Amino acid sequence: MDRLISMCKQRGFIFPSSEIYGGLNSCWDYGPLGVELKRNVKEAWWFANVQLRDDVVGADTSILMHPDVWKASGHLANFTDPLVDCKACKRRYRADHLTTDNCPECGGELTEARQFNLMFKTFLGPVEEDAAVVYLRPETAQGIFVDFKLIQSATRLRLPFGIVQIGKSFRNEVTPGNFIFRTREFEQMELEFFVADHDADQWFDRWVESRWNWYLSLGVDPAKLRRRPHGHDELAHYAKACIDLEYLFPFGWQEVEGIAHRSNYDLKQHIEHSGKDLSFFDDRTNERLVPTVVESSAGVDRALLTFLVNAWVEEEERVVLKLHPRLAPVKVAVFPLQKKPELQEMAQRILKDLRYSWQVTYDESGSIGRRYRRQDEIGTPYCVTVDFDSLKDGAVTIRNRDTMAQERVSVEGLTQYFGERLQWRPISE
Ligand code: ATP
Repeated sequence: MDRLISMCKQRGFIFPSSEIYGGLNSCWDYGPLGVELKRNVKEAWWFANVQLRDDVVGADTSILMHPDVWKASGHLANFTDPLVDCKACKRRYRADHLTTDNCPECGGELTEARQFNLMFKTFLGPVEEDAAVVYLRPETAQGIFVDFKLIQSATRLRLPFGIVQIGKSFRNEVTPGNFIFRTREFEQMELEFFVADHDADQWFDRWVESRWNWYLSLGVDPAKLRRRPHGHDELAHYAKACIDLEYLFPFGWQEVEGIAHRSNYDLKQHIEHSGKDLSFFDDRTNERLVPTVVESSAGVDRALLTFLVNAWVEEEERVVLKLHPRLAPVKVAVFPLQKKPELQEMAQRILKDLRYSWQVTYDESGSIGRRYRRQDEIGTPYCVTVDFDSLKDGAVTIRNRDTMAQERVSVEGLTQYFGERLQWRPISE
């Protein structure tokens, strides 16, 4: 992890936030390559879950919501973690993460667990009075539930259908850490899929399968991914089932995403607290019902960390980030063999042409070998070199990141060459 974190900083993927002021605990900034990678993760998720389907639509709801939303959802009363402190060394832990009764660091006695609400509070408007208290959302899902009826009537979708959203969430975590794995500000990609209750088990299985396949289709090693069904003691009282997809990080098996059968609890709670009818009329069965929800809730940053850890390979003479091409921040790097105007000019022409289709980069500094290594380390799948022969035969050398094999391809054929190799199709259901 330390080497990965230091590469992320050096190469411009991820930095500690406000570092010139000493940083802020567990807050991170994404740099030029990190932001491209993050966009690619989100776009690959949106592509698979919205663009390729005719039963799912998107939304982008507000981070600040009416405080009653959190009363209805149960977050105000129950979105807590049990906090314990070591009386000797003062370290703080989440009681549900401990496997011993004493401090795992020093063996000291622990305090009784205190429940600690994870929602960040702030004030709406200039006067800090109780009436104006609002919360930063701790999940994106509630925005979907409260807009359910508006979206359903605007789209006239009928069951089963889904609504997704990608956006920031905030949790005042007791023990953030492990780089971007657990932070207090993070992004989520959530899907709420509304179904008739008798269809819910089937849809739950389909979504577990579909989400599992998404990670595999983006190159995650199946030996390091597992499904972990929640035991009955872990399930929320309204939930019928929940399966976490876990990845084997250097710090152990950890949840990357959760898929849950949530019954119709959320909509029912909002019906009760808002007094509004959020039920749905199914004109095929002539029935009015409050749909059951199957949820898939993934973290953007956690998925990104999974892809980074999974792609990081230290070989004898190089470090390679074997990111799936769909995720790679830069798809193609173009080099002139030497800093000669005729080579530079041809390389620039190629760059400007490819730029309309993909994120590409240009590099003319240092030896070709050094330039390859630099691209390997940031995960660029292909490098194109323009040499003196190129001026005569109109062809360039393409070097493959993973195999290091080289081949000659005509400049006219480049868009097709990369088009075939850079396209991505997730495994379908
Ligand atoms: P935990 O018990 O580990 O705190 P959780 O089960 O409460 O997590 P969920 O509410 O299921 O987490 O969140 C759904 C997804 O959102 C997680 O699988 C994870 O990818 C992401 N996520 C949740 N909390 C954080 C966080 N603090 N930092 C980064 N990602 C997070």
